[in-house]
Amino acid sequence: MTNLVIVGSVALDTVKTPFGQVKDALGGAATYASYSASFFTKPAITGIVGIVGKDFPNQHLQLLQQRSISTEGVKVDNKGKTFRWEGYYEYDMNEAKTVKTELGVFADFKPQLPGSYEDAEYVFLANIDPELQMEVLRQVRKPKLTLLDTMNYWINNKRSQLLEVIKNVDVLLLNDGEARQLFETPSLVKAAAAALKLGPRFIIIKKGEHGALLFSEGSHFSAPGYPLENIRDPTGCGDSFAGALIGYLAKNGTSNEKDIRKAIIYGSVVASFNAEDFSLERLRRLTYAEIEKRYGEFKRIREF
Ligand code: AMP
Repeated sequence: MTNLVIVGSVALDTVKTPFGQVKDALGGAATYASYSASFFTKPAITGIVGIVGKDFPNQHLQLLQQRSISTEGVKVDNKGKTFRWEGYYEYDMNEAKTVKTELGVFADFKPQLPGSYEDAEYVFLANIDPELQMEVLRQVRKPKLTLLDTMNYWINNKRSQLLEVIKNVDVLLLNDGEARQLFETPSLVKAAAAALKLGPRFIIIKKGEHGALLFSEGSHFSAPGYPLENIRDPTGCGDSFAGALIGYLAKNGTSNEKDIRKAIIYGSVVASFNAEDFSLERLRRLTYAEIEKRYGEFKRIREF
């Protein structure tokens, strides 16, 4: 049975950074998230819901399957093209500049969960049209923990639909700029308070390489950023963070604040590795031993 469902983009990315570039490389929020979750989840318990076109190389789907990620929920639409994102980063790698977003087959996608996904306890609604996120949420019977991510594109284009999904999830994930934009305040504390009022029990605000903040009713936690020496491409760091975070929670069957704090550190660890190379290259070489080693370093750097 699939215990963790991830819906989001499965994409071909064209990315340029001061350290190199790739064209039509494997990317997408659901791709990064499921691969990162797979370091924690037991075989065959993560399933992706998404769509690709006939131009999507089969070897990319095989890469996920080799990690025991179920791609039964990934529809192959032979009539259209795969979602494409093109962007670049300058030396401040916290901000991606979008050149082009081509929805392709995602434009008319109607998610249909395979039966084996319907009883999943953990759901990650990765970055995609909020109406599709809502559609997936409706099809999961009784989730224990639902996590929602988004980006400025959807805040600008589908604000009210996005607010509707926020009302229906347990954890909202945003980066600092998005939190300020969505809740129209320069204060992250005020933005988190406004978000909590809508319904989620936890708000996680990502601050790029500077770490992440967790807010719940009456409590607050601050995770440090990892002082990374070699950054080549931060694309997918947000999704790697989220995927590792929910993968860790799904593996341990928990959703309490203490474990969410640990999960945030695991998320930060996997995201920091992801930034070391383009596309999923670093994640493909990553071992669980390296994750545990850097987790230990995270513990040490915040002791005082
Ligand atoms: P991040 O973790 O925020 O760096 O996400 C990067 C991934 O998001 C890339 O691999 C893109 O394919 C994907 N992406 C970019 N724009 C969108 C969008 N509007 N909707 C869904 N996914 C997107």
